[in-house]
Amino acid sequence: MGAVKQHLIDPEICIRCNTCEATCPIGAITHDDHNYVVDASICNACMDCIAPCPTGSIDNWRPVARPYSLDDQFSWTELPPAVPGSETIDALEDEAAALLAEAHARGGGHAKAPASAAKPRVNLHIRANPAMATVTGNFRITAADAESDVRHIILDFATTPFPVLEGQSIGITPPGVGAQGRQHAMRLYSVASPRDGERPNTNNLSLTVKRVAERQPDGGIFRGIASNYICDLRKGDRVAVTGPFGATFLMPDDPAADILMVCTGTGAAPFRAFTERRRRIAHRGPGRLWLFFGARTPQELPYFGPLQKVPRALLEQELVFSRLPGQKREYVQHRMASRGPELAQLLCRPATHVFLCGLKGLEAGVDDAFAAIGRDAGFEWPALRAAMREDGRFHSETY
Ligand code: FAD
Repeated sequence: MGAVKQHLIDPEICIRCNTCEATCPIGAITHDDHNYVVDASICNACMDCIAPCPTGSIDNWRPVARPYSLDDQFSWTELPPAVPGSETIDALEDEAAALLAEAHARGGGHAKAPASAAKPRVNLHIRANPAMATVTGNFRITAADAESDVRHIILDFATTPFPVLEGQSIGITPPGVGAQGRQHAMRLYSVASPRDGERPNTNNLSLTVKRVAERQPDGGIFRGIASNYICDLRKGDRVAVTGPFGATFLMPDDPAADILMVCTGTGAAPFRAFTERRRRIAHRGPGRLWLFFGARTPQELPYFGPLQKVPRALLEQELVFSRLPGQKREYVQHRMASRGPELAQLLCRPATHVFLCGLKGLEAGVDDAFAAIGRDAGFEWPALRAAMREDGRFHSETY
């Protein structure tokens, strides 16, 4: 196991404005007459304090063998020197945090984890210390004749601990270097399996990865670096994995929680994990799982075949298609509108959680649909959304 990552505030830059202490949802930040400091025994790296800080002094992460105490931090006038070699570690962790901050920007910049979610482990494996996984499966999960090639990839960690929760992501950095001779950037991928593996008690996880291959105006095809690397992996190949990442977009563990899931494309990955978790743990609980999943055609919808076999008592499904021959285009927001009264009732229940995942374009349409549903039912969606977010019950992850 590598060093522990400790969150620190740079006393030289900090203007003592109290924003971080006021923002921290779990009381990990405190201060005396000199400094604002972070209690390493409380901080869970949720990142809620990072964006509001006006100076950036909050965004310091040091790998340490033993965390600095509060007294150490109160005595500083500047941060202690970084351990040689830790710059690479900081760069990677900033990279993961930045990708997640961007993915959560619209729907949940200050999102909280659901109150009943288990405590996630984050940044266990970093660039200097990746977990080595072996590919044990790579299956196409869109039809053979579909335009998009989406794959279900299984990564096995053998005896290396890689604990994930449903909703978390992992990092994969494609091997080799880019045009300027620099190492490629890390990409994040949502975990598509539940915490105890593809099959119960296996130390593996799965991903849902779309091969990026885009036709260019000059007729050539641009191939995404990481997605093509992953989609071309073969059984037995070894992959360096970082993470897990993400501390807010997490499945509630409460079996009474109603979970409304809205997605397109590979956005289905975390919801596969949610569904399998419920199937194994709480299938007799009172909570509903209700999925709105949009694609152009059934052939293009990842996991279309397996979804047909999921009992409706476990997962209610609204599979919505926008390119069925001879039929009007339907998008998820249209289907949501047609289920308006039932959705309105659900949204107003305190046990309901909403999760959105998929391409960036998804959010605006879904938000409009919720707003219209709210107008018809007599509530203001923006106010309800803000309250749900504050309560850890509204989450959006788009990329
Ligand atoms: P890149 O090489 O990074 O290219 C990305 C895009 O940039 C291209 O589509 C293209 O439009 C443009 N581009 C870049 N260079 C050029 C060029 N030279 N010419 C033309 N266009 C160019 N993806 C999944 O498939 N499954 C997931 O579960 C998943 N989960 C994610 C979770 C999170 C939190 C985040 C942030 C992202 C997630 N992603 C997921 C997206 C994933 O991280 C990658 O962004 C995606 O796979 C594309 O990476 P790539 O290296 O293949 O493409």
